[in-house]
Amino acid sequence: MIHNFNAGPSHLPAEVLEEARQAIVNFNGSGLSILEIGHRTPLFSEVVAEARQLICDLMQLDNDHEVLFLHGGATTQFMQIPMNLLDADETMHIVHTGVWSKKAIREAQCFGKVNILASSENNNFNYIPVDFCVPEAGKYFHITSNNTIYGTQWHKIPDAPIPLVADMSSDILSRKLDFNAFELIYAGVQKNIGVAGASLVVVNKKILGNVSRDIPPIMDYREHIKAESMLNTPPVFAIYMSLLTLRWLKNAGGIDAIEPVNKEKAALLYDVIDNSSIFKGTARREDRSTMNVTFTAKSREIEQAFLKYAAEKGIYGIKGHRTVGGFRASLYNAVSPDSVKYLISVIKEFESGHNG
Ligand SMILES: *Cc1c(COP(=O)(O)O)cnc(C)c1O
Repeated sequence: MIHNFNAGPSHLPAEVLEEARQAIVNFNGSGLSILEIGHRTPLFSEVVAEARQLICDLMQLDNDHEVLFLHGGATTQFMQIPMNLLDADETMHIVHTGVWSKKAIREAQCFGKVNILASSENNNFNYIPVDFCVPEAGKYFHITSNNTIYGTQWHKIPDAPIPLVADMSSDILSRKLDFNAFELIYAGVQKNIGVAGASLVVVNKKILGNVSRDIPPIMDYREHIKAESMLNTPPVFAIYMSLLTLRWLKNAGGIDAIEPVNKEKAALLYDVIDNSSIFKGTARREDRSTMNVTFTAKSREIEQAFLKYAAEKGIYGIKGHRTVGGFRASLYNAVSPDSVKYLISVIKEFESGHNG
């Protein structure tokens, strides 16, 4: 058995894969594959409608918040958000916490002014800055709620007197938050919701229609809302996989039930790393992520040896991002506590071999 800790695309529940396998051959007894049905048929519009409804339910969204499944991953949202929200003479504020916020900054600069309120670049993004105040003069304020690469996470969402926008690609649906406090939330679905090919956008429709530029219709959130997330052929399979995973989460008790499990998984792993004589966590303790646990080994040799050892033991996807090095274990919703305990046993075994 392989234990998958990949950062994204990432592990999916076994029963979701089993159901998907069935649907690829014969979707809902229709005699057709999910891959070949028309997206404008009731067979598929029910899929989109249920997936959108499940997001509303799980996140407890109010009536102003619309749910969209769009093409292009989170990266397209780095561009689409400022195109819809930011005029050329307006400013958006952002806290810079890594590679992903850098891309959000770069894309937004194509449309308006970007003010970096705070940054943790001075320490290779191993912490979440706290020393800043969001000004009232500004169109919106952007954060990356969980920094997949560095293993940092905002544990307290900052107050902002202007609309709050968050890239939640790697921690959406993992913990309780007041999601209605955000005017826009986006996430590539391949980390904590489904498979590559779609992004989730949750937007408060009240903030739309407030820029002077002519937005190309395919990029205009209002057009997607009007078309109920079916403006053109949607990423059918990615949405279907999201539906299965959302159902799985709902059946498991939703965010209320998964949050303590996620906390426990992360606490177990951090505890082993903190008590290790050869491994060391890379993120500042109070900002550590429950989703991506980043750590390094004492030396390059040990690092190489552990990667090899872990692979032999059936552990997949724990090599750290090249900008941080070392290791990263991603503990998304679908990763079971048993897999985490298995990883811990492998770390301990390896460590005793290196001390003995
Ligand atoms: C993975 C990731 C992205 C990029 O997502 P794509 O779907 O590949 O565009 C953006 N932001 C965060 C926080 C991520 O983890």
